[in-house]
Amino acid sequence: MSGVDTADGEPGGVVYLVGSGPGDPDLMTVKARRLVDEADVVLHDKLPGPEILDLIPEERREDVGKRAGGEWTPQEYTNRRMVELAREGKRIVRLKGGDPFVFGRGGEEMEHLAEHEVAFEVVPGLSSAVAGPGVAGIPLTHRDFASSVSFVTGHEDPTKEESAVDWEALAATGGTLVVLMGVGKLPEYVAALRGGGMAPETPVAMVERATWPDQRVVTGTLDTIVDLRDREGIEPPAITVIGEVAATRERVKAFLREGGDEDG
Ligand code: SAH
Repeated sequence: MSGVDTADGEPGGVVYLVGSGPGDPDLMTVKARRLVDEADVVLHDKLPGPEILDLIPEERREDVGKRAGGEWTPQEYTNRRMVELAREGKRIVRLKGGDPFVFGRGGEEMEHLAEHEVAFEVVPGLSSAVAGPGVAGIPLTHRDFASSVSFVTGHEDPTKEESAVDWEALAATGGTLVVLMGVGKLPEYVAALRGGGMAPETPVAMVERATWPDQRVVTGTLDTIVDLRDREGIEPPAITVIGEVAATRERVKAFLREGGDEDG
């Protein structure tokens, strides 16, 4: 599988842009697992989670998540490293939490590879945006009260004029909102949604480290969720689900098996 021919006829490596799923190794695709097992090098950050990273021997993995100092920003370094390894003829897995194309910069990496004439393949993964609410007993849509779902980054500052996310318009959809990277700026986008007319009693849930061994879930309303986040000390990575669907968890919780329950 390695040693595909590049455009100029030289044997080159190949990069697999692989989604790891939300963190439980059993939720990796069969293909992701096989590629991770067979890769010469796995380039990863921390998001695939401890259980998946533990499957990869130290000598075959490189953490490209953090690189303090130095002239390369992390993304530039990762891009450069992928091309470098491909030119050595390596079979590279670029392992990304969830799905590579859901707020994962997979699009940029793919374009970089194409520009540098490196062969690549995209291996989709189960996004935390879908799996996180799911394992917590929160359906993203529901025939009775949610006919649409929006995936949104909470990273943008909602108070800045040029914010790319129109929270007021999102408040008006009446559908489910799933916010990624939304722990730090929770107070700001909650206020923006309230400003857009969303009711204070709208159910909200936060799923922290979904499918990791130490998964936690908090549920409240638009009115209470900021206090709950602070009281429970919710930290990234976490998914915020806003909308009527978030209330279903409380109705089913007594029978919901979570995390490693089935093993115990
Ligand atoms: N490509 C990833 C998302 C990357 S953006 C995916 O498809 O899941 C990073 C954000 O993803 C985090 O801030 C958090 O909101 C979310 N996230 C990723 N893994 C998570 C997990 N196991 N539990 C909760 N949130 C997670």
